[in-house]
Amino acid sequence: MEGARTIEVRRVKTYAGFCGGVKRAWNRAVKAAKSTDEPILLSGKLIHNTPAMRELASMGVRVATDEDLAQETVGRTYIMRAHGEGPEAFEAAQARGFNVIDATCPIVTAVQKIAVQLEDEGFQVVLFGHRDHPEARATVAYTKRGFIIESAEEARALPFYPKLATIAQTTVLQADYLEVVEALKARTDVFEDRGRVCGWTLHAQDEALALAQEVDAMVVVGGRDSSNTIQLVRVCETACPTFHVESPDELRAEWFSQASVVGIAAGASTREVDLASSISFLESLPAAPGAVAVA
Ligand code: SF4
Repeated sequence: MEGARTIEVRRVKTYAGFCGGVKRAWNRAVKAAKSTDEPILLSGKLIHNTPAMRELASMGVRVATDEDLAQETVGRTYIMRAHGEGPEAFEAAQARGFNVIDATCPIVTAVQKIAVQLEDEGFQVVLFGHRDHPEARATVAYTKRGFIIESAEEARALPFYPKLATIAQTTVLQADYLEVVEALKARTDVFEDRGRVCGWTLHAQDEALALAQEVDAMVVVGGRDSSNTIQLVRVCETACPTFHVESPDELRAEWFSQASVVGIAAGASTREVDLASSISFLESLPAAPGAVAVA
Protein backbone atom coordinates (compact mmCIF):
# COMPACT_ATOMS: atom_id res chain seq x y z
CA MET A 1 0.00 0.00 0.00
CA GLU A 2 1.31 3.44 -0.87
CA GLY A 3 2.07 5.88 1.97
CA ALA A 4 -0.05 9.02 2.39
CA ARG A 5 0.84 11.77 -0.08
CA THR A 6 2.95 14.51 1.49
CA ILE A 7 3.22 18.19 0.68
CA GLU A 8 5.26 19.09 -2.38
CA VAL A 9 7.71 21.88 -1.55
CA ARG A 10 9.01 24.23 -4.24
CA ARG A 11 11.84 26.56 -3.29
CA VAL A 12 12.84 29.69 -5.15
CA LYS A 13 15.60 28.60 -7.47
CA THR A 14 18.30 31.23 -7.14
CA TYR A 15 17.73 34.18 -4.83
CA ALA A 16 17.22 32.69 -1.37
CA GLY A 17 19.68 32.88 1.49
CA PHE A 18 22.96 34.76 1.83
CA CYS A 19 23.36 37.47 -0.83
CA GLY A 20 26.82 38.65 -1.91
CA GLY A 21 26.96 41.43 0.67
CA VAL A 22 25.97 39.15 3.54
CA LYS A 23 28.41 36.42 2.45
CA ARG A 24 31.21 38.95 2.39
CA ALA A 25 30.37 40.31 5.85
CA TRP A 26 29.92 36.82 7.28
CA ASN A 27 33.25 35.61 5.89
CA ARG A 28 35.04 38.61 7.35
CA ALA A 29 33.53 38.00 10.78
CA VAL A 30 34.32 34.28 10.73
CA LYS A 31 37.90 34.94 9.59
CA ALA A 32 38.37 37.49 12.37
CA ALA A 33 36.97 35.05 14.95
CA LYS A 34 39.41 32.36 13.83
CA SER A 35 42.36 34.72 14.17
CA THR A 36 42.04 35.35 17.93
CA ASP A 37 40.62 33.99 21.18
CA GLU A 38 39.37 37.44 22.15
CA PRO A 39 35.75 38.42 21.44
CA ILE A 40 35.25 40.17 18.11
CA LEU A 41 33.09 43.26 18.53
CA LEU A 42 30.43 44.45 16.11
CA SER A 43 29.14 48.00 15.62
CA GLY A 44 25.60 46.55 15.56
CA LYS A 45 23.94 43.34 14.36
CA LEU A 46 26.18 42.26 11.48
CA ILE A 47 23.10 41.06 9.61
CA HIS A 48 19.41 40.99 10.52
CA ASN A 49 18.96 37.32 11.33
CA THR A 50 18.71 35.92 14.85
CA PRO A 51 19.88 32.32 14.18
CA ALA A 52 22.87 33.65 12.21
CA MET A 53 23.72 36.11 14.98
CA ARG A 54 23.51 33.24 17.50
CA GLU A 55 25.97 31.24 15.43
CA LEU A 56 28.34 34.20 15.30
CA ALA A 57 28.03 34.59 19.10
CA SER A 58 29.07 30.94 19.49
CA MET A 59 32.29 31.91 17.65
CA GLY A 60 32.85 34.89 19.95
CA VAL A 61 31.49 37.57 17.60
CA ARG A 62 28.99 39.92 19.25
CA VAL A 63 27.64 43.46 19.33
CA ALA A 64 29.87 45.76 21.42
CA THR A 65 28.38 46.79 24.75
CA ASP A 66 29.03 49.97 26.78
CA GLU A 67 31.12 47.78 29.05
CA ASP A 68 33.30 46.67 26.12
CA LEU A 69 33.79 50.28 25.10
CA ALA A 70 34.74 51.28 28.65
CA GLN A 71 37.63 48.78 28.61
CA GLU A 72 40.92 48.89 26.73
CA THR A 73 40.03 48.96 23.05
CA VAL A 74 43.40 49.56 21.39
CA GLY A 75 44.22 46.75 18.97
CA ARG A 76 40.90 44.95 19.42
CA THR A 77 38.90 43.98 16.38
CA TYR A 78 35.74 45.94 15.63
CA ILE A 79 33.58 45.14 12.62
CA MET A 80 31.29 47.64 10.92
CA ARG A 81 27.99 45.95 10.14
CA ALA A 82 26.91 45.00 6.59
CA HIS A 83 24.31 47.81 6.56
CA GLY A 84 27.06 50.40 6.96
CA GLU A 85 27.80 53.00 9.61
CA GLY A 86 28.00 56.76 9.40
CA PRO A 87 31.34 58.60 9.28
CA GLU A 88 31.19 59.42 12.99
CA ALA A 89 31.12 55.73 13.90
CA PHE A 90 34.26 55.12 11.82
CA GLU A 91 36.02 58.13 13.37
CA ALA A 92 35.07 57.05 16.91
CA ALA A 93 36.29 53.49 16.34
CA GLN A 94 39.58 54.72 14.90
CA ALA A 95 40.02 57.16 17.80
CA ARG A 96 39.66 54.24 20.22
CA GLY A 97 42.48 52.44 18.44
CA PHE A 98 40.29 49.58 17.26
CA ASN A 99 41.46 47.40 14.42
CA VAL A 100 38.48 48.30 12.21
CA ILE A 101 37.13 45.84 9.66
CA ASP A 102 34.61 47.35 7.29
CA ALA A 103 31.94 44.77 6.41
CA THR A 104 29.64 47.30 4.72
CA CYS A 105 28.11 45.79 1.58
CA PRO A 106 29.84 47.46 -1.41
CA ILE A 107 26.43 48.23 -2.91
CA VAL A 108 25.57 50.24 0.21
CA THR A 109 28.94 52.00 0.09
CA ALA A 110 28.19 53.00 -3.50
CA VAL A 111 24.87 54.56 -2.43
CA GLN A 112 26.65 56.52 0.30
CA LYS A 113 29.06 57.90 -2.30
CA ILE A 114 26.22 58.86 -4.63
CA ALA A 115 24.51 60.72 -1.78
CA VAL A 116 27.64 62.78 -1.12
CA GLN A 117 28.16 63.49 -4.81
CA LEU A 118 24.56 64.65 -5.29
CA GLU A 119 24.79 67.00 -2.34
CA ASP A 120 28.07 68.41 -3.70
CA GLU A 121 26.19 69.13 -6.94
CA GLY A 122 23.64 71.21 -5.01
CA PHE A 123 20.80 68.71 -4.76
CA GLN A 124 18.61 68.25 -1.74
CA VAL A 125 19.01 64.51 -1.16
CA VAL A 126 15.98 62.49 -0.08
CA LEU A 127 16.36 58.82 0.79
CA PHE A 128 13.33 56.55 0.52
CA GLY A 129 13.59 53.91 3.26
CA HIS A 130 12.86 53.22 6.90
CA ARG A 131 13.83 55.82 9.48
CA ASP A 132 14.80 53.25 12.06
CA HIS A 133 16.83 51.10 9.67
CA PRO A 134 20.61 51.25 10.17
CA GLU A 135 21.38 51.37 6.45
CA ALA A 136 19.11 54.35 5.80
CA ARG A 137 20.41 56.20 8.86
CA ALA A 138 24.05 55.55 8.01
CA THR A 139 23.62 56.65 4.40
CA VAL A 140 22.03 60.02 5.23
CA ALA A 141 24.72 60.51 7.89
CA TYR A 142 27.18 61.03 5.00
CA THR A 143 25.18 64.09 3.87
CA LYS A 144 24.75 67.46 5.59
CA ARG A 145 21.09 68.03 4.76
CA GLY A 146 19.80 64.67 3.50
CA PHE A 147 16.75 63.12 5.14
CA ILE A 148 14.64 59.97 5.02
CA ILE A 149 11.06 59.65 3.85
CA GLU A 150 8.99 56.49 4.27
CA SER A 151 6.12 56.94 1.82
CA ALA A 152 4.80 58.69 -1.29
CA GLU A 153 2.43 60.53 1.04
CA GLU A 154 5.42 62.07 2.83
CA ALA A 155 6.94 62.93 -0.56
CA ARG A 156 3.79 64.80 -1.61
CA ALA A 157 3.89 66.84 1.61
CA LEU A 158 7.45 68.11 1.05
CA PRO A 159 8.11 71.78 0.26
CA PHE A 160 9.42 72.80 -3.17
CA TYR A 161 13.20 72.44 -3.75
CA PRO A 162 15.07 73.99 -6.70
CA LYS A 163 17.11 70.76 -7.12
CA LEU A 164 15.94 67.47 -5.67
CA ALA A 165 17.54 64.04 -5.90
CA THR A 166 16.30 60.74 -4.60
CA ILE A 167 18.13 57.63 -3.49
CA ALA A 168 16.77 54.47 -1.87
CA GLN A 169 17.51 52.03 0.87
CA THR A 170 18.71 49.03 -1.14
CA THR A 171 16.03 46.63 0.09
CA VAL A 172 12.77 48.54 -0.38
CA LEU A 173 9.99 47.35 -2.65
CA GLN A 174 10.58 48.59 -6.20
CA ALA A 175 6.89 49.47 -6.71
CA ASP A 176 6.90 51.63 -3.55
CA TYR A 177 10.04 53.42 -4.71
CA LEU A 178 8.59 54.20 -8.16
CA GLU A 179 5.53 55.75 -6.50
CA VAL A 180 7.81 57.95 -4.37
CA VAL A 181 9.76 59.04 -7.47
CA GLU A 182 6.55 60.16 -9.19
CA ALA A 183 5.53 62.15 -6.11
CA LEU A 184 8.95 63.82 -5.77
CA LYS A 185 9.08 64.95 -9.40
CA ALA A 186 6.31 67.43 -8.61
CA ARG A 187 8.35 68.98 -5.77
CA THR A 188 11.19 70.39 -7.87
CA ASP A 189 12.31 71.93 -11.18
CA VAL A 190 15.44 69.79 -11.44
CA PHE A 191 15.01 66.15 -10.49
CA GLU A 192 17.55 63.36 -10.33
CA ASP A 193 16.51 59.76 -9.69
CA ARG A 194 19.55 57.83 -8.43
CA GLY A 195 17.81 55.22 -6.27
CA ARG A 196 18.45 51.57 -7.07
CA VAL A 197 16.99 48.60 -5.28
CA CYS A 198 19.87 46.11 -5.16
CA GLY A 199 19.86 43.39 -7.81
CA TRP A 200 19.61 40.52 -5.30
CA THR A 201 16.55 42.12 -3.71
CA LEU A 202 14.87 42.79 -7.05
CA HIS A 203 15.43 39.26 -8.36
CA ALA A 204 14.35 37.75 -5.03
CA GLN A 205 11.10 39.73 -5.11
CA ASP A 206 10.40 38.67 -8.72
CA GLU A 207 11.21 35.01 -8.05
CA ALA A 208 9.17 34.86 -4.85
CA LEU A 209 6.14 36.43 -6.55
CA ALA A 210 6.31 34.02 -9.50
CA LEU A 211 6.46 31.07 -7.10
CA ALA A 212 3.70 32.43 -4.84
CA GLN A 213 1.42 32.53 -7.87
CA GLU A 214 1.74 28.77 -8.45
CA VAL A 215 1.45 27.32 -4.91
CA ASP A 216 -1.23 26.99 -2.21
CA ALA A 217 0.83 28.77 0.47
CA MET A 218 4.26 30.38 0.91
CA VAL A 219 6.80 30.27 3.71
CA VAL A 220 9.37 33.06 3.93
CA VAL A 221 12.29 32.26 6.21
CA GLY A 222 14.14 35.33 7.44
CA GLY A 223 14.83 37.76 10.24
CA ARG A 224 11.88 39.57 11.71
CA ASP A 225 13.83 42.84 11.50
CA SER A 226 15.20 42.07 8.04
CA SER A 227 13.95 44.68 5.58
CA ASN A 228 14.38 42.52 2.47
CA THR A 229 12.57 39.62 4.17
CA ILE A 230 9.64 41.84 5.14
CA GLN A 231 9.34 42.98 1.51
CA LEU A 232 9.36 39.35 0.32
CA VAL A 233 6.50 38.59 2.70
CA ARG A 234 4.54 41.58 1.36
CA VAL A 235 5.12 40.47 -2.22
CA CYS A 236 4.03 36.87 -1.55
CA GLU A 237 0.96 37.93 0.41
CA THR A 238 -0.44 39.47 -2.76
CA ALA A 239 -0.65 35.98 -4.29
CA CYS A 240 -1.37 33.42 -1.54
CA PRO A 241 -1.42 32.85 2.24
CA THR A 242 2.12 33.56 3.45
CA PHE A 243 3.86 32.62 6.68
CA HIS A 244 6.97 34.42 7.90
CA VAL A 245 9.26 32.51 10.27
CA GLU A 246 12.70 33.32 11.52
CA SER A 247 13.67 29.71 12.16
CA PRO A 248 12.25 26.28 11.23
CA ASP A 249 11.02 25.51 14.76
CA GLU A 250 8.40 28.27 14.40
CA LEU A 251 6.60 26.39 11.59
CA ARG A 252 3.23 24.85 12.55
CA ALA A 253 1.71 21.86 10.75
CA GLU A 254 -1.84 23.25 11.06
CA TRP A 255 -0.97 26.24 8.87
CA PHE A 256 -0.72 23.86 5.90
CA SER A 257 -3.75 21.64 6.53
CA GLN A 258 -5.37 22.86 3.29
CA ALA A 259 -2.18 22.82 1.20
CA SER A 260 -0.86 20.41 -1.37
CA VAL A 261 2.03 22.49 -2.75
CA VAL A 262 3.96 24.98 -0.62
CA GLY A 263 6.56 27.44 -1.86
CA ILE A 264 9.51 28.60 0.17
CA ALA A 265 11.60 31.76 -0.09
CA ALA A 266 14.25 33.22 2.18
CA GLY A 267 15.75 36.57 3.02
CA ALA A 268 19.26 37.69 2.12
CA SER A 269 20.62 36.85 5.57
CA THR A 270 18.99 33.46 6.06
CA ARG A 271 21.33 30.53 6.62
CA GLU A 272 21.09 27.57 4.22
CA VAL A 273 20.67 25.25 7.23
CA ASP A 274 17.47 27.05 8.29
CA LEU A 275 16.12 26.93 4.77
CA ALA A 276 16.94 23.21 4.42
CA SER A 277 15.37 22.33 7.80
CA SER A 278 12.22 24.26 6.92
CA ILE A 279 11.95 22.33 3.65
CA SER A 280 12.42 18.98 5.45
CA PHE A 281 9.69 19.86 7.94
CA LEU A 282 7.24 20.89 5.21
CA GLU A 283 8.01 17.77 3.14
CA SER A 284 7.09 15.60 6.15
CA LEU A 285 3.54 16.99 6.31
CA PRO A 286 0.57 15.22 4.72
CA ALA A 287 -0.93 16.93 1.71
CA ALA A 288 -4.48 18.16 2.27
CA PRO A 289 -7.02 15.35 1.66
CA GLY A 290 -8.47 15.69 -1.79
CA ALA A 291 -6.08 18.52 -2.68
CA VAL A 292 -4.80 18.43 -6.22
CA ALA A 293 -1.19 19.37 -6.93
CA VAL A 294 -0.95 22.84 -8.44
CA ALA A 295 0.33 22.78 -12.03
S1 SF4 B 1 20.59 42.76 0.04
FE1 SF4 B 1 21.79 43.78 -1.56
S2 SF4 B 1 22.51 45.69 -0.62
FE2 SF4 B 1 21.83 44.35 1.05
S3 SF4 B 1 23.69 43.27 1.71
FE3 SF4 B 1 22.70 41.99 0.16
S4 SF4 B 1 23.67 42.56 -1.80
FE4 SF4 B 1 24.13 44.18 -0.30
